[in-house]
Amino acid sequence: MLEKSTDHYKCTFVNVRKNYYLCIVENRNYMRFRDVIGNERAIEQIRRMVDSGNIAHALLLHGEPGVPKLALALATAQYIHCTNRIGGDSCGMCPSCLQHQSLNHADTFYSYPIVKKGENPVSEDFDREWKRFLTEDVIAEDYERWLALLGNSNAQPIIYASESDNIVRKMSLSAYTAKYKVLIMWHADKMNKECSNKLLKLIEEPEPDCIFLLTTDNVKGILPTIYSRTQCIELRKPSTQQIADYLTRNGGIDMTEALALAAPADGNVMQALRNMDHGSETHDFHNDFVRLMRLAYMRDIAGLKQWSDEIAEYKREKSQRFLNYASRMVRENYIYNLSTPSLNYETQEEAQFSKNFARFINEENVERMLRLFGDAARDIRGNGNAKIILFDVAVKTTILIKK
Ligand SMILES: [Zn+2]
Repeated sequence: MLEKSTDHYKCTFVNVRKNYYLCIVENRNYMRFRDVIGNERAIEQIRRMVDSGNIAHALLLHGEPGVPKLALALATAQYIHCTNRIGGDSCGMCPSCLQHQSLNHADTFYSYPIVKKGENPVSEDFDREWKRFLTEDVIAEDYERWLALLGNSNAQPIIYASESDNIVRKMSLSAYTAKYKVLIMWHADKMNKECSNKLLKLIEEPEPDCIFLLTTDNVKGILPTIYSRTQCIELRKPSTQQIADYLTRNGGIDMTEALALAAPADGNVMQALRNMDHGSETHDFHNDFVRLMRLAYMRDIAGLKQWSDEIAEYKREKSQRFLNYASRMVRENYIYNLSTPSLNYETQEEAQFSKNFARFINEENVERMLRLFGDAARDIRGNGNAKIILFDVAVKTTILIKK
């Protein structure tokens, strides 16, 4: 199977028979209300506002990290501009929707935290990176990914005062094609004070055709004067089922797998997508976990020493992810014994292992095992010696799972 991706499309060529390929074109920027995960009530509230023509001049969409806010802001802008709304959503086909989907809508502007490139830094300095981010990561809106695109993962990006001058200029132009100009500001809490104050003026005395869609996961970081002049909509964590539905629709995996990835993410879509990215890692972690338990059961100290040396070879973050995985397995196997399948979120491979292994995790040891893996992850994060920490985990496991 061949894949060809552009900024806006992903084409997959499927070989259906000799020398005959079927090209599946997938528009990657489809952002309608139906593409936002969960938050039906918030969507309904926005939909009613737009339909009635009574749109607040400044909306603040806030919610915990990993709750899709940027996606909802994009879907809202597209809905506002769509000339052929249908079934309570934008049509996805009118010229305006097509412009949105190619990230070229003339009356939609974006503002986001950046690092300083030169004098008067403005968001557009990173326009190419931003379009890539919207194309690839809009649902996850992973801030670490954004830092990587900025080319400096240790940076502390902000929205500079020069950006507010840029916003004032853009929002004072008359709209090109639409009734409303929309500014989407991602991570509005990253505005510096000067920028916030300038923006405040715009929000206090809005032009009738300007709409500000601000998003944040740190509502306390928003200047109180701005906060009090916006209409706040708090977005909630999507349910495990909603995230799993999304993963099956977009990730080409089955529901069992999707639930196993979505459940540990606890409503954090970004985490669930990361879990999916690490799919093959999950399989490796499963093998690592099974090996640890078998060696511990047999009290094979030489084997355990080798096991801990191998896991210690993982990078720090990866060994922490393994220990988190091990904690999840302990929990899942404990729950397995309760015979309530609806509470169990395991892949087929994991469930197969649990059939024989679950009985080793019980009320006597479950808490101590969780603490063992949790403490080890914390110690490794705190720069402890991974070899020593992991060998300690291995030896203590022999005691905890004794018959
Ligand atoms: Zn449309």
